[in-house]
Amino acid sequence: MIIFKKATDIHIFLTNKLKENDSIGFVPTMGALHEGHISLIYKSKAANSLTVCSIFVNPTQFNNPLDFEKYPITIESDIAMLEEAGCDLLFLPSTDEIYPKEFVKINYELGYLETILEGKYRPGHFQGVCMVVERLLQIITCNTLYLGQKDYQQCMVIEKMIRLRNMAVHLEIAPTIREIDGLAMSSRNRRLSNEERQNATVIYNTLMYIKSKITILSHEEIVTEAKNRITEKGFEVDYVELADCQLNPLEKTDHKNGIVALIAATINNIRLIDNMTLINPVD
Ligand code: AMP
Repeated sequence: MIIFKKATDIHIFLTNKLKENDSIGFVPTMGALHEGHISLIYKSKAANSLTVCSIFVNPTQFNNPLDFEKYPITIESDIAMLEEAGCDLLFLPSTDEIYPKEFVKINYELGYLETILEGKYRPGHFQGVCMVVERLLQIITCNTLYLGQKDYQQCMVIEKMIRLRNMAVHLEIAPTIREIDGLAMSSRNRRLSNEERQNATVIYNTLMYIKSKITILSHEEIVTEAKNRITEKGFEVDYVELADCQLNPLEKTDHKNGIVALIAATINNIRLIDNMTLINPVD
């Protein structure tokens, strides 16, 4: 695997590769890699002649300074995992490479996506996400961008940003990879104590509970019971929401746009999110 630290170097390298008709897949990450990230690398490798991963803990998407400060950094083992997975290139920039002095910040018109769910609890977060992803896509000229469904709203935001900015990149969304007990893999799981880690399975179990009751109980009953279950395990619930697949509020009688359940809950300043598609949209 070739490691690049300079934006100009990797940009020139990849632009030449595109001219040689290579197809390039790109997996942006913040490091502390796990099997969820590696599944994206495999997905890219299966469809492209070159796979690029980036590791950059983006300060502009953290609204909570403590979360940024405590974000796990495990660069040596990240490199080993990427080598093992057969990733071709790693972009490992400094903050100055991503945000040079001449960098101009813009405002993305994300509409309702910016004010609901994660947007409501993490003001400015999705502007920061768009800022870094657009910058990374300027540097890493690629055909396909790979994101995980684990960050459902982020996928929708990036889809919208690609449309807004008329970018010629295809977006592939990959399923959430889970631990054996169902907990969605996340870099933040490393910060959980043994007891918190055991209790964290309540998030997945609650999503499964919601799925089992979605056509039986009222939405109000389901959400109330779901919140109780999560709170009983010592988590503070930010939200348990049911929405259609575009994250619009649900029409009570009509499920043609599908249903997704989304949960965000915090324990000891560690915030975990997860989601599950309960009913697929009708094409
Ligand atoms: P992060 O390093 O948390 O910014 O994540 C980088 C990419 O990996 C994002 O597209 C995430 O949605 C994706 N990702 C994170 N966790 C998982 C998971 N458990 N399964 C699949 N994709 C994931």
